[in-house]
Amino acid sequence: MAFDTAPRPVLEPRDAPLPARADLVIIGGGVIGLAVAYNLARRGHSDIVVLEKGYLASGASGRNGGGVRQQWATEINIRLMRESVELCRSFAHDLGINVWFRQGGYLFLARTPGETARLTKNLALQNRCGVPTRMLSPAEAQVIVPELDVTGIHAACFNPSDGILFPWPFLWGYAQGAIKYGARVFTFATVTGLEPDDGGRKGYSVVTSRGTIHARRVLNAAGAWSPELARLIGVELPNRPVRHEICSSEPLKPFLGPMVSLLATGLYVSQSMRGEIVGGVTLPREASTLDMGSSLKFLATYSRQLCRLMPALADLKILRQWAGPYDVTSDGNPILGEPPGRPNFYLACGFVGHGFMMAPVIGKLYAEWLAGGDRHEIFDRCRLDRFDAPGGVEPLAREDFIIG
Ligand SMILES: Cc1cc2nc3c(=O)[nH]c(=O)nc-3n(C[C@H](O)[C@H](O)[C@H](O)COP(=O)(O)OP(=O)(O)OC[C@H]3O[C@@H](n4cnc5c(N)ncnc54)[C@H](O)[C@@H]3O)c2cc1C
Repeated sequence: MAFDTAPRPVLEPRDAPLPARADLVIIGGGVIGLAVAYNLARRGHSDIVVLEKGYLASGASGRNGGGVRQQWATEINIRLMRESVELCRSFAHDLGINVWFRQGGYLFLARTPGETARLTKNLALQNRCGVPTRMLSPAEAQVIVPELDVTGIHAACFNPSDGILFPWPFLWGYAQGAIKYGARVFTFATVTGLEPDDGGRKGYSVVTSRGTIHARRVLNAAGAWSPELARLIGVELPNRPVRHEICSSEPLKPFLGPMVSLLATGLYVSQSMRGEIVGGVTLPREASTLDMGSSLKFLATYSRQLCRLMPALADLKILRQWAGPYDVTSDGNPILGEPPGRPNFYLACGFVGHGFMMAPVIGKLYAEWLAGGDRHEIFDRCRLDRFDAPGGVEPLAREDFIIG
C-alpha cells in the first residue's frame, strides 16, 4: 500500500509577520470562515488571510454536537442541508482527512398530538424535497433504538440519511485545504480595529494584535463575536450569543444508531464513532452572554431526562462537560452579504445552532459569489436589512425547527 508522505500544510508560525495586503481578510477561523477560505482558494482566488484570535476550534465550531440533518421546517434549509450532507459524504475523500462521518439518521420523538402535527407537516415538505423522512409509531421507534422507554411518546419521525461527524478534523481539513491552495491562516491574531478606506470602496485597514493588513475585501465570520467586529465600522448586528451546554461520556460499545431528540425538552443524544454518548438539553432561556462556563444545573437536567428516556444509561459516566455560544437571530436564519453602506464588507454570521452543517454549502456558495460567479438567492434573502426594512426580495420564512 502507498502512503501519502507529502508534508501536511501548516498554519502560520506564532511569530510570523502579517502580509501588508490581501485581497480578502476573513475574520474568524471557525468552520464558516475556513469553509469560505478553502472553497475560494480552491477556485484559484488564494490571496486570502484568515485571522483567528485563539486556536482553531476555540469558538462554537469546536464545541458543538456535530449533527448534520435534513429534517427542517423550511424548504431552503432542507435543500441546502441536502447538499451539505452530500459534501460531508465526500469530505474525507476531497480533503484527505477522516471526519468520522456516520449516517445513522435522526429520530425525533413527539409527546403530544401538537408536536406530532408539527413533525407531520415538516415531513410532507421534506418528502417533497426528496428527503425520505417517515413517521413511526412509538413501537417502531423502539425497533430502531431498543433502549428507548417510549412511555408517553405519541409518535416519532426518522430520516436515515441524517448523521453526525467529529467537528475538529472537519475544521482542520478545511484549514489544511485552504493552506494547500495558497491561503494563509494566522491563529492568535485578534482583530481590534477596522478602518474603511474611502468608505470601504477601496477596502479596509484591518488592525490586529500582530500588525495591520490592508484588505480589498473583508468577511466577518466571527460567529457570536461578529457584532463586536461589525460595530468597529458602525454596523449594528441583531444576532446575540446564547450559551449552550453539552457533555460527553465514557466510550460504550456501539449501540445507538441515530441522533435521538425529544421535541418537548430539546434533549438530544447521539453516540460518536468513538463510542461516547454526546448530548445536551435546553435550559430555560439564559441572558445573552459569551460566558462559556459549565453548570451543575445542566448536568442534573440532562442526566434526569436521559435516564428517563433511556434507563439503560443510568450508570453512564460523564467524562467531559463544556459550553459554546449559539449565535442567535430572531428568525433562525443567518445574516449574509454586504450591510447597507459598507461595500466590500461581507457578513457570514448568525448561524444559531446549525452553522456547522450549513458550512459546507454556505462556504461553497459564498466562494462562488466572491469569485465573481453566481450569487445564490440566499444572499439576498438573508440580508441584514431584512430585520428592519422589509421589502425587495422576500426574506426567508422563520426557521423554527431548532434543537437545544
Ligand atoms: C453546544 C452546541 C451544540 C451545537 N450543535 C450543533 C450541531 O449539532 N450541528 C450544527 O450544525 N451546529 C451546531 N452548533 C452550532 C455550530 O457550532 C455553529 O453554528 C458554528 O460552529 C458557527 O461557526 P462560525 O464559524 O460561525 O463561528 P465560530 O466557530 O464561533 O468561529 C468564530 C471565530 O471567530 C473568532 N473571533 C472572534 N472575535 C475575533 C477577533 N476579534 N479577531 C479574530 N478572531 C475572532 C473566534 O475565536 C471564533 O473561533 C452547536 C453549537 C453549540 C454551542
